[in-house]
Amino acid sequence: MEQRIHNFNAGPAALPLPVLATAQEELLNFKGSGMSVMEISHRSKWFDGILEDAVVRMKRLLGAGDNYQVLFLQGGASTQFAMAPMNLLPDGQAADYVNTGTWAKKAIQEAQILGKKANVPATSQDRNFAYIPKNVSYTPGAAYVHLTSNNTIEGTQYNGFPDTGDAPIVTDMSSDMLCRPVDISKCGLVYAGAQKNLGPAGVCIAVLRKDMLERVPKTIPTMFRYTTHAEKNSLYNTPPCWSIYIVGLVLKWLEETVGGLDKMEAQNRAKAELLYKAIDKTGFYKGTADKEDRSWMNVTFRLGSEDLEKKFVAEAEKAGLGGLKGHRSVGGCRASIYNATGLDAVEALVSFMNDFEKNNG
Ligand SMILES: *Cc1c(COP(=O)(O)O)cnc(C)c1O
Repeated sequence: MEQRIHNFNAGPAALPLPVLATAQEELLNFKGSGMSVMEISHRSKWFDGILEDAVVRMKRLLGAGDNYQVLFLQGGASTQFAMAPMNLLPDGQAADYVNTGTWAKKAIQEAQILGKKANVPATSQDRNFAYIPKNVSYTPGAAYVHLTSNNTIEGTQYNGFPDTGDAPIVTDMSSDMLCRPVDISKCGLVYAGAQKNLGPAGVCIAVLRKDMLERVPKTIPTMFRYTTHAEKNSLYNTPPCWSIYIVGLVLKWLEETVGGLDKMEAQNRAKAELLYKAIDKTGFYKGTADKEDRSWMNVTFRLGSEDLEKKFVAEAEKAGLGGLKGHRSVGGCRASIYNATGLDAVEALVSFMNDFEKNNG
């Protein structure tokens, strides 16, 4: 146990310790089945229970009504970049895509590969995606507006969804789903790869408003149709059972141990404020995102030189603080402080940062 580090990985990322402990306890014999979750049938009563529990908890945490359906899919958020336009963007219509960074760009590219009309009504590329565009004029009649709610690589985050008029929001929440309460009633689709804030890699959560299913054409392959998975309650084919099981345990932890999303929000706010305060203190560290758009989940910052950044990351690792290197495409440093990374980890990081500054400032 004492070998566990303070984990600031961007994804796959830290999981709550009680979740791992439960998984360990139940590993060889899940609830008297005499089997591991990895060994049971996805059509068994045991897995039915796992799936049902995860769906109910997800809907409750999101405040999603009966007009929403929770799907557990494969292929990661990256597959949703294609599935969303395939299913929800009819030929001849256009969708808006706000370009807020690396992942948003990939979503745009996939729509274009499919020959779909993806308008970009706003981009923050002019300043290396350091901000979230405001007062955007969306295309009248757009089939949907695609937003990347948290930009994992650049360290920016929407603070609530903008008013997109009649166009439903389709949002990639891979790195901030369930970090705080949000109103998803304007969302036609919320999707997230689980491996950042929700669980292990291997499952992607898609929360669809049921009216979106009416748009799905029959001309796309079966596995790529939302209707296929909706009609079979994520059991059209073999789902990633183990990953869904762990997501279910994370949701249970969120509700029963943390005490719900309001409590999670308070913890995440405290963590982010503490870390940004340390960054802003003297100018030794420089935050890369505009203050008003700073992410609570991925805190990006730079030091005076690339050599100093290398030294920072290496010494931090020796001090038991892992995963602080920025994404290879942008460099710098990044502390990912998802739900499962506790205040104690952030306090340890801030204390290390203060010492490092003393010794190198
Ligand atoms: C990590 C990430 C993705 C890609 O997720 P995969 O599950 O690896 O396909 C997409 N969008 C955002 C915002 C991400 O952080």
